Amino acid sequence: MSRFEIKNWCPGALRPMLSGDGLVVRIRPHGSALSPAQAAGIANAATKHGNGLIDLTSRANLQLRGVDPSSHDELLADLATLVLIDRDVAAETRRNIIVTPLRCARHGPETIELAAALEEVLDHAPDLPSKFGFAIDTGEAPVLAEVSADVRLERTACGQLIVRADGAPCGSTVTRSEAPNAVLALASWFAESGGVQEGRGRMARHLANGSRPSNAQDWNALPATSVATPAPGPHDEGFFVAAEFGQLHAETLGKFAAMGREIRVTPWRMLFLSDISDVPDAEGLITKADDLRLNTTACTGAPGCLQTHAQTRELARALAPHVPKGSHLHVSGCSKGCAHPAPATVTLCATPEGFDLIKNGRACDRSHRANLTEEEILLLPHSLFEAS
Ligand code: SF4
Repeated sequence: MSRFEIKNWCPGALRPMLSGDGLVVRIRPHGSALSPAQAAGIANAATKHGNGLIDLTSRANLQLRGVDPSSHDELLADLATLVLIDRDVAAETRRNIIVTPLRCARHGPETIELAAALEEVLDHAPDLPSKFGFAIDTGEAPVLAEVSADVRLERTACGQLIVRADGAPCGSTVTRSEAPNAVLALASWFAESGGVQEGRGRMARHLANGSRPSNAQDWNALPATSVATPAPGPHDEGFFVAAEFGQLHAETLGKFAAMGREIRVTPWRMLFLSDISDVPDAEGLITKADDLRLNTTACTGAPGCLQTHAQTRELARALAPHVPKGSHLHVSGCSKGCAHPAPATVTLCATPEGFDLIKNGRACDRSHRANLTEEEILLLPHSLFEAS
């Protein structure tokens, strides 16, 4: 078996995943941000070693697609010079940290310091499930509340730092210097108290089962009220830009790098360019909050995924103008539903026989209709959203 043939893991850079278009190599930017030089280097590497397509993931990572396995070692060397490679697979897997893109002048420097300090202490973390993650949400108000994470660093309405276990309404207050070890202590308690079963487990479920650490009586500080997930367009601190189906062209990333600004990578499949008010136009970019493509999600599908039963994105692109306001369409190449694990108003899930139509459910849920052809779907796109 080749070193790349194992499926169903979360890919990294050191441990990529083999897909239908070559290797998928995931890069975890430190502090969820790239310097212009790092962004330019990634754009260059995506073209040199891959097919030039870059996925923006829900973990605030970048994925280079179509990487030739014979180029992998050379790609790692290029990424190492950009300081984007971890010491080993274990360190890469543990470094599952999302940092708020909204850092504000008042809290930005501390947020960056906290992210770096947490990376250091995670060297002492126990074995954790690969999906176990950390959110550093220490801007003026939390914005990552809807983003998957197991231990969260946030602030109270008065600006005091708190460490909060996901699933608990309150956290415990900490000083800046205490915060990284308090996060580590919570993750260690999770592992030691049986939160990991057969390599899996999440904090919220562990708490829901009644588990509590001995210092849980200190969980009495409420986080500040969350702000809404940002939309594409200008923002007080910069500009949010999304990519159609979360996929950027290397050339576009190169254009952003040339603007000379820090590029923050968000978990909403958007980039945030600090201190600018507009971005250069490029194919597939979404820069307005009312863009109809934001109501439609589609996974990689054919030919990029080995497990798909159909192409997905052309169909999703054709259907996007017909998705009613307030509804969401998910086109999935198989029942795994990678692109949108939550329920959608309408999910079209490809099977060997055609498309299943699922209403208000996930790709793996029971279908309302089965074996639809692409032609049937495109003939009456509005009927997908009619009440049955
Ligand atoms: S949901 Fe899409 S990307 Fe995920 S495995 Fe299935 S076909 Fe591939």
